[in-house]
Amino acid sequence: MKPLEKSSRPPSIDQILKDNTIHKFSEQYGRNQVIKTIRETLENWRKNYGERDTPSFCFTKFVIDLEQQLKTEKDFSLRCVFNLSGIVLHTNLGRALLPQSAIDTIIKVAGSATNLEYDLNTGSRGDRDDHIETLICELTGAEAATVVNNNAAALLLTLNSLSLGREVPISRGELVEIGGSFRIPEIMMRAGCLLREVGATNRTHASDYENAVNQQTALLMKVYTSNYEIRGYVSEVATPELARLAKKNDLPLVVDLGSGNLVRMSDYGLPKEPLVGEAVASGADIVTFSCDKLLGGPQAGIIVGKKSLIKEIKSNPIKRALRVDKMTIAALYEVLRLYKNPEKLHERLPTLRLLTRQVEDLEQLALTLVAPLNRVFGGIAEISVIDVESQIGSGSLPLERLPSKAVSIKASRDETLRRITSAFRRLPQPVIGRIHDGALLFDVRTLEDKETFLNQLKQLDLAEKT
Ligand SMILES: *Cc1c(COP(=O)(O)O)cnc(C)c1O
Repeated sequence: MKPLEKSSRPPSIDQILKDNTIHKFSEQYGRNQVIKTIRETLENWRKNYGERDTPSFCFTKFVIDLEQQLKTEKDFSLRCVFNLSGIVLHTNLGRALLPQSAIDTIIKVAGSATNLEYDLNTGSRGDRDDHIETLICELTGAEAATVVNNNAAALLLTLNSLSLGREVPISRGELVEIGGSFRIPEIMMRAGCLLREVGATNRTHASDYENAVNQQTALLMKVYTSNYEIRGYVSEVATPELARLAKKNDLPLVVDLGSGNLVRMSDYGLPKEPLVGEAVASGADIVTFSCDKLLGGPQAGIIVGKKSLIKEIKSNPIKRALRVDKMTIAALYEVLRLYKNPEKLHERLPTLRLLTRQVEDLEQLALTLVAPLNRVFGGIAEISVIDVESQIGSGSLPLERLPSKAVSIKASRDETLRRITSAFRRLPQPVIGRIHDGALLFDVRTLEDKETFLNQLKQLDLAEKT
């Protein structure tokens, strides 16, 4: 065949496919994918040049465009990014980072058959919760536990199991929206229970619950409103009192802790967050909490509580739809194991490690970024280190802030700032900061891999992309 070079019109797809380079693409990317992409690339050429009086088709350029397109299509859209947003547990950026031990164990079980639901002693069917239930109970003081896909699932499953078609009184101050369209009233409706609002937005008393209890009541519920706070003339019924009330009426008390924790955050100099063990000890019969919030583990939700209730929850067929896989169980086990040695937790658990970094160290780190950034932006932006406050994120302690340091990239024009921000998002490992006061801020609290961050700066491309 004649070499395919400059001609005024493109050759046919059959001819193109006979070319050696194209043949190699077929082996690498798959023939159908290559044909589809050839069609698209030709279509683009026709749109841009095909209508001209003297159309000029260049095969070499065609091959370059084709390869570019094939490469982009091969790219997985889920990428590793730098979260320098100042929100440590950023839901949109995937929340908690796992410790190395958890990553190693995930890799091990991922590529192998496991005894996920197989009892090695008896050779009969086992229960996937068995691998972690003992550890969860040890860390929370609960009698029994089960694990599902996330805390939203934990709540849905608990309510559906224990209150289907019956009433659940809940304080008007606790009918919260967690974010991403997850609202307590809606989840209760979908769980099939009847929400019975009690009290007022700012004040709810024990008598409000008492007056609401009737033959139709299935349980009492308390939602820990971790993501907002009402101040001023407020009153709520604390867990121990609500537990007494529940007991008196022979009803279970369900507490949704949201981002409950297993160790005292104040021991690490962090703001107080309710403990799962405390809720259990206060008489809650069921407690649900999230595994990828402050706990610092994989996405999952834990339900702990009374043996009989957990048994009822586990026998609900919906549990099957909400169960976690072997990789989640492996990661969760390794994360929970770290809690058995609280003295080392802030070194070993990434979430706690990031939250407890000292502001002096963060300042040192931020200062080392100034010169390299100046080399890139000299003349078009002003680089400095400023005081900022990091947030824990994921609805945890929204009013609490951790003193931190950020590199500020300040541009005199909004357009320049927009280009800079977008260029950082287009790096091989995109960098996500936040815009404040005409500057792009990179909170360094969550910057651990400084080398990669600096090495890719030379690839910043401030040219406009369409
Ligand atoms: C975050 C939160 C949830 C949902 O937990 P996920 O693990 O994100 O599903 C439910 N209830 C409360 C109170 C929360 O804070």
